[in-house]
Amino acid sequence: MRIQSRRVCRSNTVPPDVVPHWGLLLQQAVSVPGLLLRAYRAFHRYSVGNQLLALSQCEQRGLQPGPLNTFPGWLALGRQVRRGERALTLVMPLARKRRSDGAEEFEILTTFAFKSRWFLLSQTVGQELPPEPIPYFEADRALAALEIQRVEFDHFDGNCQGFSRGREIAVNPVASLPFKTLFHEVGHILLGHTEPEGAAVEFTREMQEVEAESVALLCCESLELEGAEYCRGYIQKWLYKAGKAAIPDVCARRIFQATDKILRAGRIESETPPIE
Ligand SMILES: [Zn+2]
Repeated sequence: MRIQSRRVCRSNTVPPDVVPHWGLLLQQAVSVPGLLLRAYRAFHRYSVGNQLLALSQCEQRGLQPGPLNTFPGWLALGRQVRRGERALTLVMPLARKRRSDGAEEFEILTTFAFKSRWFLLSQTVGQELPPEPIPYFEADRALAALEIQRVEFDHFDGNCQGFSRGREIAVNPVASLPFKTLFHEVGHILLGHTEPEGAAVEFTREMQEVEAESVALLCCESLELEGAEYCRGYIQKWLYKAGKAAIPDVCARRIFQATDKILRAGRIESETPPIE
């Protein structure tokens, strides 16, 4: 028996003041310095798309960004949602198995639905809770988890900052922004740009650069690492070359997914910083 996986996007029950356009959310994240850092600090347990979705609702409704939980989740922590508080809307993946008539193969359909069921700490009252520590990030841990090898930089062009091929990356030892370059190259791999088929032929060179650099920008901003300003200029340059005014929704989704994979792969939940 084989199981095939397919993803379908669907939106339902979206309150009119919630922005469901990923391209627009990404555009804001790309153009407003510090937005991602605020979103990551408050909502790092959630996907990048949901972080931005939650932050935009906080800003629209004048709410304090912070820990999120569902109504029963807060109850379990000894806190109650204040009467009259309206829930925040996030996107949830819903997976279900489907088998066509007489077929031996199952298909797993992942749909995405907007659900209004999360409340902020500031919308609740009750028992005091300790602040949630922000996780640390370790690049080598991320590379190992993503099965990406770091190889020696052997490019003849000294101006080149780094490269990716197959599942290998190299960063120029004198790269001006080594973390930014690392995220950019890992982005190329996770986005499928280094595979012989798929995204590598589906997206133009220009859009591949926009996608990889957007991943680098989201990672740098979330982790408060240098490079975001440079990324902004680079993305604009390649968007212009691609003849596009903004990053399309389809690319925004892919960029968010690749960023999530990197941030989650390198995450260390700890109260004490890792040894340098
Ligand atoms: Zn590139």
